[in-house]
Order: sequence, then structure tokens, then C-alpha cells
Amino acid sequence: MVARAAVLVLAACSLDACSCTDSQAPPPPPPDPSTVAVLVVPSRVSVSFDPAAATGSRDVSFTLQVMTRDADGNALEPDAGSVTWTVPAGVIVVGDGTIATLKVAETVPMPFTVLAKVNGIATVGSAKIERSTGTGGDVVFGEHASGSLAAVLLTSGATSTSPCEESATAFVWRGDLPNLRTAAASAGCRDDAMLLWSGASAAQLHPAGWTVNTDRLNAMTGTAPFVPAPAAKRLTLTPKFFIGVSDWLCHQAVEIPDCDLAHEQQWARETAVEELQLAQTIFERNRVGVELVYDPTLVVDKTELASVHNCDAAIQWALSPPAQVAHGDVAVLWLDDLDAVGGGPARAVTCGRATSDGALVLGDDRKLILISSPDQWITSVLVHELGHALGLTEPGYGHTDGVGLQISGFGRHNVMAETDNLVFPRMHFTLGQVYRMNADTRSLLQAAGLRPAGGVDCGCNPLATKSCPALGRDIAPLERTVTWTGTCSTP
Ligand SMILES: [Zn+2]
Repeated sequence: MVARAAVLVLAACSLDACSCTDSQAPPPPPPDPSTVAVLVVPSRVSVSFDPAAATGSRDVSFTLQVMTRDADGNALEPDAGSVTWTVPAGVIVVGDGTIATLKVAETVPMPFTVLAKVNGIATVGSAKIERSTGTGGDVVFGEHASGSLAAVLLTSGATSTSPCEESATAFVWRGDLPNLRTAAASAGCRDDAMLLWSGASAAQLHPAGWTVNTDRLNAMTGTAPFVPAPAAKRLTLTPKFFIGVSDWLCHQAVEIPDCDLAHEQQWARETAVEELQLAQTIFERNRVGVELVYDPTLVVDKTELASVHNCDAAIQWALSPPAQVAHGDVAVLWLDDLDAVGGGPARAVTCGRATSDGALVLGDDRKLILISSPDQWITSVLVHELGHALGLTEPGYGHTDGVGLQISGFGRHNVMAETDNLVFPRMHFTLGQVYRMNADTRSLLQAAGLRPAGGVDCGCNPLATKSCPALGRDIAPLERTVTWTGTCSTP
């Protein structure tokens, strides 16, 4: 394998006229320990026990995450092994890293508190684990795979105290929701619900149709379907990879030992696997509800791509018979280099609907991702571009940072940050982003009809909440301050 130098920055963008440039800003300083907060996510979990298990042998195991957040809102994932968990007797913690699995027997008194201490940080994070009574207002049921994340249901609707109540309920098997009823349209409220699930599944209900009576939202497969409407959906995406690199890099100024076409192709394949594995991990941790599958038979060398350096040429290649990208496909082209876009070098691009000359149109129901600059690849490039492919294109190309984007508050760890670096690796999607990836009509999942419940136009204003949750809506903490001073080019 050819050795590569790690780099600290890159720009990746979406659409055709993206003005992304290669930011050369130095990495931010490490956070000040005195201002760091430790977060256990979710901070409150409603737990019930496997109804199919025999009484007396019921237990549940689910995972919690620990994150830290500095005074600037940047979240970090502490080093694995630096976290100490404290739980009451009868609760077993498996793992001492940032992801810990709690094994809870039915006999353990509830509620109880879980504490997480991170080495070098004075504050301690906590989470409250409580038993779901199911006797309150509305109730949600959902399948739970042992050891997986607690599910999160994001709801909105009118309550007795709020015309537009929005809440995120984390639960294992069953969770108690606020008493909800469908909000009056005149109040400008959403009446939807999105069940954010494990990495492999997400369920969507739109509209929810809450009544004044107790509503039982059932998202278990194999039993009664989602009530009152669409079923949960387990969804997989299996990207196609076309390796189009040449031995171009071998002839650059820096001589690379033993460099030839075969080495370049092999390294691209290895990188593709690595990037897809990271993408799947990030999707799962953020409950994107899509499982990314690697199929080695869908990795194909295409030496004719050595002359492709932009979306126009890539779309022309992909659509020329026999077409290489079909309905529902995600095709990833690994290329030597990309043309500069908007005055700066482009490291990766997700091709938008229209090409610059308008001669060719790639439908929204299929996506082309181009990845270039083999000496500067970073493993989070693919998951970032998949974010674009799944509808994160507004505002500012869907980026959460970057010069001139007029948006702030997401933190540098967000997957849709324009730049990645070794201090703040991109690893996090907000619930608002995950919602759009599943439900927005801009997403491949909706354009290709992969989600059964139908899409909604989330618009470009990240602060608006009428159609979709605010883009910055998150679970850790539930409310974040995202600011945006831009304007929408489209209503
Ligand atoms: Zn981008």
C-alpha cells in the first residue's frame, strides 16, 4: 500500500455552482477543560422490557453515548477508555469508552441515574433511566435490538399548554409521550412524527393525526403496523464504486515509491471500504435509519474515467448506454482530480440535478458522488457527500460552517461541516438533519421512493419549524442555538 500524508483540511461541496474553496484555516485550539460540559446522550430514557421474554428473565441492554461540549458549542467525542461510568447495583456496564451498553434487569429499582466522568474534566454527565408506565398520554412501541441505541421519537402536536409542542422521547421497547393532538394548521405547527431508529431502520409518520384520546404508535414489524398510517421501513443502500484513477499521482512532484496504476487502484479500493465503514458507523450512531452495505462485486475499475474531472463529464459518462447509474442508485466515482469550483479546488462533489450547461439532467432519484485528490482523501469525505445525496443541500449547500455561509451553532464535529480536521472529526448529524435525510423531498430516499410515507418540502430556512424540525434540532442538548442570517434563494 502506498503511504499517504494525512491532511487537516478539505472542502467538499454539493451541486453544480458550489462556491466551495479549500479552507486553509488552522485547526481550532483544543477546548478549555474548565468550560467543557459532559453530556450523556440521551439524557433521559424511558425503558420497558421485552414483552416476548418470560417474566423473571426479562432484561434490556441498550447503549448510551458520552460527548463533551465546549463553550463554543463544539462537541467532541472523548478518547475511548477515558470515560468512567457509575451505575446502581444490578446494572451492568459493558465497555468503558464513549459508547457503553447498560444491561438492566427488570428487578432494578427505577428511576436511577447514570453518571459519566471523563478524565481531566471536572463536570460529570448524567442520564436518568425510568420505567415506562404506559399509563400517561400517548405511547410509542418499537422493536429494540439488544445492545443498540435507545430509539428516539421526535413528535410535534398541540398539548394543553402549548399549541406547538415539540419533544424528543428516547425509549427502549416503549415510551411515554406527551398528550398530543393534531395541532391547528392556523397555529403554524407541524403535526408529524419521525421515529428515529437504529442505524438500520427509521419509521416516519406524516401526518401523525394525533387525537385527544390516547394514541398508541406502534412501529414494530410483524405486528400491527404503524398506527394510524405507514409502516416502519428498514432500508439499505449499497453504493456502486467506480475506480477511475490513473497513475497520474505517480508522476507528481513528490515521488512515491513503487507507484503504478495497480497500486493506485488498490489504494482507492481500500479507501472506499474504509470510508464506507466509517459512514455506516456514523449513520448508526446518529439513527439515520439507513444501513450502508459494501458489496465488493460493485467495485469496478473504469480507466476511461481518467479524463473525467467534473459533474458534466461524469453525468455524461454515467448516462451513456449502458447507463451506470439507475433509479435509486448511489454511484461513487474515484477520480484523479476535480476541476476547480467557484475559485477553489474541489475535493469532492455530489452532482446536482442540472449540469452547468444544462445539456444533461441527472434525476433526483439517482446520485453521483465524485471524490478526488488521492493525496488528500479523508475518511469522512464519503459520509459528508452521502449527507448531500440524502438531501442536505440547504442552505449554503447544506454546509454547517464555512466562510460566508451565515450559519453558526452546529459545532465543528458536524458531518456537514465544510472542513474536517484532526481535532474535530466530522461524526455527528443533528436530529433535524436526520429528519431531512429521511423525509425531505430533496433526499434520494424520497425522490427514489425508498421511504413509503411520502416526503415533505423542508424548505431552505434552517430555523423554520412549520414543515420540518429546525435543522439544528438535536438530542444533545435538546435545544441548541443555531443562528442564520442568510436569505433563501427559493421560497
Ligand atoms: Zn459538502
